[in-house]
Amino acid sequence: MELFWHRRDLRAADNVGLATAADRGEVAGVFVFDDDVLAHASDVRVRRLLDGLAALRDDYRDRGSDLVVARGDPETVLPELADALDADRVVWNRDYSGVARERDAEVRKALNEAGIEREAHHDAVLHTPDSIRTNAGDPYSVYTYYWRKWTDRQTDPPAPTPEETDLADANALAAAVGADDGALADGGAAIDRVTVGDLPAPADLGFAEPDADVGPAGTAAARERLDDFLSEAVFGYDAERDYPAREATSRMSAFLKYGEIGVREAYEATKEAMAVAEERAGESGDGDGTDDDEGPVAAVEEFQQQLAWREFYTQVLYHNPEVVSENYKEYEEGIEWRDDPEEIAAWKRGETGYPIVDAGMRQLREEAFMHNRVRMIVASFLTKDLLADWRHGYDHFRERLADHDTANDNGGWQWAASTGTDAQPYFRIFNPMTQGERYDPDAEYITEYVPELRGVDADLIHEWNELSPTQRANAAPEYPSPIVDHSERREDALAMYKRARGED
Ligand code: FAD
Repeated sequence: MELFWHRRDLRAADNVGLATAADRGEVAGVFVFDDDVLAHASDVRVRRLLDGLAALRDDYRDRGSDLVVARGDPETVLPELADALDADRVVWNRDYSGVARERDAEVRKALNEAGIEREAHHDAVLHTPDSIRTNAGDPYSVYTYYWRKWTDRQTDPPAPTPEETDLADANALAAAVGADDGALADGGAAIDRVTVGDLPAPADLGFAEPDADVGPAGTAAARERLDDFLSEAVFGYDAERDYPAREATSRMSAFLKYGEIGVREAYEATKEAMAVAEERAGESGDGDGTDDDEGPVAAVEEFQQQLAWREFYTQVLYHNPEVVSENYKEYEEGIEWRDDPEEIAAWKRGETGYPIVDAGMRQLREEAFMHNRVRMIVASFLTKDLLADWRHGYDHFRERLADHDTANDNGGWQWAASTGTDAQPYFRIFNPMTQGERYDPDAEYITEYVPELRGVDADLIHEWNELSPTQRANAAPEYPSPIVDHSERREDALAMYKRARGED
């Protein structure tokens, strides 16, 4: 028997480590609630994790097995579980973030000392963070060059799903693990609690039920969503993806973050969509597969590029673990952020008086999700209109996003703050009013999330900052006036960055 330790790969299908272990013989799937990880979790993410685990557990149950669920320090839990279940090897998929790598090194050591074999596999991204480098051998810091090499590479096919007979029998697991009172049958003292298939409630882990609806979880839901997206919406992805009111993006981020769908499976599906796109392009004469600018082929490629952004940021974090809390790009004099607590609080509440910003922040609160274009707008607003340190925004997103992913979230924030790899230049400052007008012309997205503005003419909404106090009071008395003047703050932001660059 071998143990497969699930972490950010809550799936049985296209799971390289699980498939490899199953190929050798019987496997038991294990998940460990690690207090160090829980210390950085949030209500939203705990709810989303539990939903993903329930779906994974049900996948095991459908195959006559079950999920072993433990709580404690993986360093002590895994050797004891291996002992109790008579397993001679523990297998997992690599997590490339810095904190996870440190933890895994400790677990490796503990298993070694206990005389238990261990094996780590590459699974989370298509190409290992080390494998795509510049001709000089350095990691890439410019996405376009990274993408060119990424897209030229061969990819592995999806890993096979284990057969029912490869998985440990549920009854045998229950017998080996004293499930009723949470103690290991043969006395594993270090494990706080271990059960077969029993999942805690958020309160058991010290969290509350979130107000936000965290959306569907699990492999079946991920596949359904991806199939749906790739059957039609993907062919208009490049033209539509920036408009938040349209259902034009895949909504795969949380599924990918929790590993409920394998990236090989997802990428393979995009290749099938590409074949359809090429056929359509041939029929309509709309792009011939070599024209990068428009048509269904370019649209599918644009979607593949987003999967590559995810891998780009994974390798940025892998090579620079310090970016979690530090600017990637140094400013010689340091950036003197303004950090006004009241302004930051208004931003978090979605009460800045900038309609598109407020709509985004309220979408985040309600759905634990925000559209990508709006993430860019609210992040620009926090850093370049409120002149607040991107880390305030990152922490808030980390608490509220169901798809929070250290690499992508950090990459997104440092891009917007002009401190990251391949970031927005510091002098490019989004105008939140023109962004709203361009990407939500009829104010459909805005009014969905900002009820105070329902019934107000879209033209008035898009010139909210230019209206007089009386006009605003007449149009939407409950909605706030802008808390800052964008044009003034734009100048302040430019001055702030120039000072940091030693250019003032
Ligand atoms: P689609 O447009 O359908 O893209 C498909 C997939 O590609 C996504 O699910 C995601 O896995 C990946 N992807 C897309 N855009 C990016 C990107 N810019 N960087 C990295 N991967 C990308 N994405 C997260 O997954 N987690 C985060 O915590 C996160 N935080 C962000 C913070 C900021 C400030 C910004 C500007 C962006 C952030 N993003 C994050 C990237 C992006 O906004 C989301 O991935 C996207 O909105 C998710 O919606 P979707 O699945 O419909 O995306």
